[in-house]
Amino acid sequence: MKAIILLLLLSMSSNLFALASVESDCADQNHIKEAIKQVFKKYGDFAGYQKNHGYKIPKTLMDCLKGKLKNGRVKCRANTNPRCITGALGFATAGSKNANICKRTEDVLSDCDQIDKRGSYAMLTMHEWTHACGYIPESQPENVEEAVMDWWNSTHTGFSTNCAQR
Ligand SMILES: [Zn+2]
Repeated sequence: MKAIILLLLLSMSSNLFALASVESDCADQNHIKEAIKQVFKKYGDFAGYQKNHGYKIPKTLMDCLKGKLKNGRVKCRANTNPRCITGALGFATAGSKNANICKRTEDVLSDCDQIDKRGSYAMLTMHEWTHACGYIPESQPENVEEAVMDWWNSTHTGFSTNCAQR
């Protein structure tokens, strides 16, 4: 009986800490996982930051993004994918759990150090998940991306996206 309860508790606790899955087709899988983990773990801090700095991200969107960080999925797609071929870094479909990252992003970020790489993936995944939460025009995804950038900068000394090759 004790063993059963212990197993139950173990499986419950692993669910509590489960985060969005990052598919192994992403070469930067570990950096993406760490980016998601850091945003999720300090989500209350991020929520307060974006509010205090005038980003005005709607509560429903903040809740949806939290859900994606926990239950969503990151997939990395070939540059020949119809939605990557335009030169995009990523894409997402409204209603989907997926943040899709185009493979060229790995090259764009190849010169970035760990903090810059993770911050950039935090920005990109949150941008794409904003689309997935139903925001099709670029304005809100860009707003969220900028909020993540500013917040990441406030918590990681020396963060910069200047390393990216565009
Ligand atoms: Zn977009």
